[in-house]
Amino acid sequence: MLKKMETDLVIVGAGPGGYTAAFYAAERGLKVILVEQDKRPGGICLNRGCIPSKALLHATHILKEAKGSDRMGIHFEPPRVNLNQLQDWKESILEKLSSGIRGYAKGKGINYMKGRGFFEDSNTLRVETDNGQEYISFKKAIVAVGSKPVIPKTFDLGNPRVMTSDGALEIEDVPQDLLIVGGGYIGMELGTVYAAMGSSVVLAEALDSILSGGADPDLIVPVIKSAKLAFKEIRTGVKVLKMATAGKKIKVTFEAKPKNKEELYDKVLVAIGRSPNSSGLGLENTKIVKDAKGFIQINYRQETDDPQILAIGDVAGGIMLAHKAAKEAKVAVDTILGGGRTFENIIIPAVVFTDPEIAWCGLTETEAKLKNIPIKIAKFPWSASGRALTLDHPEGLTKLIVDKE
Ligand code: FAD
Repeated sequence: MLKKMETDLVIVGAGPGGYTAAFYAAERGLKVILVEQDKRPGGICLNRGCIPSKALLHATHILKEAKGSDRMGIHFEPPRVNLNQLQDWKESILEKLSSGIRGYAKGKGINYMKGRGFFEDSNTLRVETDNGQEYISFKKAIVAVGSKPVIPKTFDLGNPRVMTSDGALEIEDVPQDLLIVGGGYIGMELGTVYAAMGSSVVLAEALDSILSGGADPDLIVPVIKSAKLAFKEIRTGVKVLKMATAGKKIKVTFEAKPKNKEELYDKVLVAIGRSPNSSGLGLENTKIVKDAKGFIQINYRQETDDPQILAIGDVAGGIMLAHKAAKEAKVAVDTILGGGRTFENIIIPAVVFTDPEIAWCGLTETEAKLKNIPIKIAKFPWSASGRALTLDHPEGLTKLIVDKE
């Protein structure tokens, strides 16, 4: 007979959702197994997302500050960037954080298993490890397998010159001409990095504005202004149709009238969104239901249609941010333990780490108008803020949306 390990809770995926759930559940006395296929725990956030992008943004911040100090009478030589050293520094941060997660898990008695999880049924997870297959019989499971970059077939040439955020964060070289397809926060943040490193960046966005759908348009204005100076061009309302390899370049076809336009780039970064990692996981062997885009359907307690299995983080849809995944992790564990918090009326703050940065939280002016909610607006321009002036960054504003009553 097949020998199975037994546990109260198995968690598939050790990103910010999965490891938060594991720590929280273990602290509350559950026997936990945490399964991760990657060589390092931490998920996309730590390995190919939040942390490496913020490390690179910090480095570019130094470049920009040094350049901007001339008018204060502080002069530096033009900077020399050693990409290998920059990579090593970034890598050391990731290594430190991931070994911290491993150590913390060990300290809490969590069984951390490196391998790929696959649901055999609603109570059994098969894990393909380097040493063969393990079977885990669980009372409850949390799916926290995250998401991956979307890359349409017409862009996917199998050529490393067409990158997603995964490749762009490796920053192997600084391309002379870089096209970024997609003006969401990932495209804008990585555009900020490459432009500061010396790339001539063209950004193409199909919608009428960059960074749409989050913060109010007036908060985005300072970012657009500064990106227009840093980038060669920002094109909105523009559709990229296809790409082809052309020697050492990428030939990109843009939709245009009366004739489509072709341009050559050294590299292209495709940042048009992320899709859930919900296939190849055996979910068809459970009662889990996915929506049309492949996100696992959940309720406000993180329960799926399978009574034994919960889902959290990017794979469960909604706003794809690390702290949202971590919050859902605690809701899921509370649900397993019989109540506690839910994911109702949760306000999720967001930050875009461009230069300048934007941060927002709660109801926006746009949403208030759409929902006919009476509000008052208070704005304070930073050009009148002593602190902003002493930091030499008077661009931007603080905006409050206030209940009219
Ligand atoms: P993930 O972090 O994706 O982790 C899922 C894990 O599951 C992965 O480690 C994966 O290897 C593992 N896995 C998948 N399938 C299996 C399987 N079958 N078996 C075992 N393991 C499996 N968010 C922020 O809040 N702030 C930021 O500044 C920010 N910056 C970002 C920058 C970039 C470039 C990107 C791409 C994302 C950024 N995000 C940011 C988003 C953030 O990374 C995600 O929202 C977050 O990582 C989601 O966490 P998660 O736990 O749901 O999944």
